[in-house]
Amino acid sequence: MNTYDDDNIFAKILRNELPNDTVYESEYVLAFKDINPQAPVHILVIPKGRYISIDDFGSNATAEEIKGFYEAVSKIVEQENIKQDGYRTITNTGINGGQEVPHFHLHILGGTKIGVMVSKAV
Ligand code: 5GP
Repeated sequence: MNTYDDDNIFAKILRNELPNDTVYESEYVLAFKDINPQAPVHILVIPKGRYISIDDFGSNATAEEIKGFYEAVSKIVEQENIKQDGYRTITNTGINGGQEVPHFHLHILGGTKIGVMVSKAV
């Protein structure tokens, strides 16, 4: 998974070829509700740039894109009223990480106590 796939679902969402339930948008990010929520609040935050993974984003995004991404996370957790009680963020990467969509995304999960961090893999 080294080349960005322009046909991935989130690329299509960014091009408005597929609908989404947007909760926040800026110059740098789009954030929308996960179609299969795992918690009362389950939001996906994606950069508007063509980045496959968190390491691709960290290596190749501009400082403005990176700052814009994390500022968006801060605004979203306030907007969704999950800042005070806490929340979990998850980024799955590649085959071992269980990444389904090859466009970097951060899951924000909240609204209840989120369960165990991971099921044991050893
Ligand atoms: P991953 O396993 O790649 O970290 O997570 C992909 C997430 O995208 C899953 O939680 C899945 O429910 C969500 N998802 C997949 N397709 C769509 C879609 O078309 N719209 C939305 N809103 N979420 C999607």
